[in-house]
Amino acid sequence: MTKCIFCKIITGEIPSANVYRDEQVTAFRDINPAAPTHILILPNKHIDSVNVLIDDDEQLIGHLFTTAKNIAAQEGIAEGGYRLIMNTGAGAGQTIFHIHLHLLGGAPMKHPMG
Ligand code: AMP
Ligand code: ZN
Repeated sequence: MTKCIFCKIITGEIPSANVYRDEQVTAFRDINPAAPTHILILPNKHIDSVNVLIDDDEQLIGHLFTTAKNIAAQEGIAEGGYRLIMNTGAGAGQTIFHIHLHLLGGAPMKHPMG
């Protein structure tokens, strides 16, 4: 089975600007940032998208969010506000089918999105 680009980043076959790593998740800076702080947080295990999550993934997905919170504090954007996005499916803008949370912050954002 061929590895996806994010699996290759996790194993170090493709370089990235690493921000955080533990047994369950990896975080690195987005190569094409959409905000002053734009970090991707993903499970080390390959999961295509939210559409294929199973009950056993619940702790892992929760861990993505607590990791995002910790990184937001570390990056100094927790007080100013940040946005967490998980695109699901091509129609929503998902281009890499290895589930990932976008952490965006560091500048005022408009709402609503879309
Ligand atoms: P999505 O469109 O939600 O699937 O998000 C994919 C994100 O991955 C985009 O924001 C890309 O800029 C980012 N990206 C693609 N390749 C790399 C890479 N090699 N290193 C870091 N970020 C990447
Ligand atoms: Zn993958």
